[in-house]
Amino acid sequence: MKSTKILFAAATLAAGALMLSACAGGTSGGSGEGSGDGGLVGVAMPTKSSERWIQDGNAVKEQLEEQGFTVDLQYAEDDIPTQVSQIENMITKGAKALIIASIDGTTLTSVLQEAADNDIPVIAYDRLIRDSENVDYYASFDNYKVGVQQATSLLAGLGLTDLEGTAAADAPAGPFNIELFAGSPDDNNATFFWDGAIDTLQPYIDEGVLDVKSGQTDFQQAATLRWDGETAQKRMENILTSTYSDGSTVNAVLSPYDGISRGIISALEGSGYTVGAEWPIISGQDAEIDSVKAIVAGEQYATIFKDTRNLAKVAVDMASALLNGEEPEVNNTEDYDNGVKVVPSYLLESQIVVSDNIQEVLVDSGYWTEEEING
Ligand code: BGC
Repeated sequence: MKSTKILFAAATLAAGALMLSACAGGTSGGSGEGSGDGGLVGVAMPTKSSERWIQDGNAVKEQLEEQGFTVDLQYAEDDIPTQVSQIENMITKGAKALIIASIDGTTLTSVLQEAADNDIPVIAYDRLIRDSENVDYYASFDNYKVGVQQATSLLAGLGLTDLEGTAAADAPAGPFNIELFAGSPDDNNATFFWDGAIDTLQPYIDEGVLDVKSGQTDFQQAATLRWDGETAQKRMENILTSTYSDGSTVNAVLSPYDGISRGIISALEGSGYTVGAEWPIISGQDAEIDSVKAIVAGEQYATIFKDTRNLAKVAVDMASALLNGEEPEVNNTEDYDNGVKVVPSYLLESQIVVSDNIQEVLVDSGYWTEEEING
């Protein structure tokens, strides 16, 4: 009887010791304090050709390092095989977690299987990774709402609504000629932006206030592979030649991204438009510095500001929570179905920027300095 008791006590002690060591193991991912021993996190970004991804990459790296992680940050220059091999390398180097902004959201299925086989959690950064069950979390913005904001900025620029989308009392009757551009068809975000924008513009098109004069109203016709500015410029040139050679003018252009807006602006300038009364209202996204300057110059009407510092924080907190055995915070478990599963998401809010609020939204928040904008 006595010996049974002793045995039981010894077993309890051993179990306790095991539990303690398990707990210690659980925290080895390290909440950090800058110790640098939290392990390696791989960060895969699509391209350096767009400024926003440079801002994102820097912010993610900086914040991971502050939390004590070592970072392998790679850019793939919009080349899919390069991105796949960069991620393979991260896995080989022993990354404990991966944060990935994909180029083509459908091309990472097998490399993510490798990650899963090595128990490496994966966070989709800004762009949803599709066709894989091995995507654990998604950090992004409310992408449908970004599209609503892009369309609303056009309506406001035309005097039809205010920036909140409330109809103006003295709204002009139109009709206004509008042309539509969409993002890259292989980027899950592009259809969210498009759907938000079209749902907002459609009532005005139905009422005859807006007229897509080229007749190019399908996503596939409007899409711009790899969000490429030159591709957009060529399409705008073609539309101006085919549809506006009769002396009519284009009054508004839906653009989903600042780089595309700059291509559209070049096409307009090339065909004789000058900033002033006949210059169209043009939307954008990302508050890239050249486009903020274009807003100041009156070439672009608006952009959508998505604070990359906040997005980086969400993604870094997710990685850190996962490596500490905690559950990351999410605020959407419905909208982002990647074709295999609904990926739990944290979505941030974006803001419309026009010339009047550049100071308040971009300068006061420390995103750009006055010198950068006016210099
Ligand atoms: C991002 C946008 C960006 C676009 C082009 C999208 O996935 O959400 O912010 O403008 O890619 O880089």
